[in-house]
Amino acid sequence: EPVIGILALQGDVREHAAILERARARARPVRRPAELAEVDGLVLPGGESTTMSRLLETFELLEPLRERIAGGMPTYGSCAGMILLAREVLDGRPDQRQLDGLDVVVRRNAFGRQVDSFEAELDFAGIEGGPLHAVFIRAPWVEKAADGVEILAQTAVTGDETARIVAIRQGPVLATAFHPELTGDERVHRFFVRMVHRTT
Ligand code: GLN
Repeated sequence: EPVIGILALQGDVREHAAILERARARARPVRRPAELAEVDGLVLPGGESTTMSRLLETFELLEPLRERIAGGMPTYGSCAGMILLAREVLDGRPDQRQLDGLDVVVRRNAFGRQVDSFEAELDFAGIEGGPLHAVFIRAPWVEKAADGVEILAQTAVTGDETARIVAIRQGPVLATAFHPELTGDERVHRFFVRMVHRTT
């Protein structure tokens, strides 16, 4: 079984660990560079991306993490994790630091102008068994994606709202604007575990 770390500075660490174990991976919290060095893949949970980027610097994880991502470590970011992985953030804070794992522009708190949180049924490319029930909490969306970024899920067009990109993959990096760890549905984590298997 692959060893998958969960960045444990903030956020839903326990929920991700439980669901990764059900998806046949060994879950390990990661707070130190030495712990990062030992994992085959990493989950960046939701939380608050500006706080998390500050904590990454405090815990001296920012540079080691950028290096591992640049070196091809499979990485999955949910919500704030998606924001951290993006090359560029709109509506971010000036001191927000990026991991540059995804060649995309994301908009922070993008849906928040209408509502803080909402749930939706989404079709997810590469995941079978019907739509996913997705929970969005002050979620970002992907505003622009470079060629080579696969769009895996979008919100539905409703009224005057256009479809928004909410799940993507670029090589070994996966990101969702929503929180699959909150629904008990293991399919996104299984999808990520398969990505980790392919590189180990
Ligand atoms: N709005 C948060 C941010 O800017 C993300 C919210 C979440 O992770 N649920 O980082």
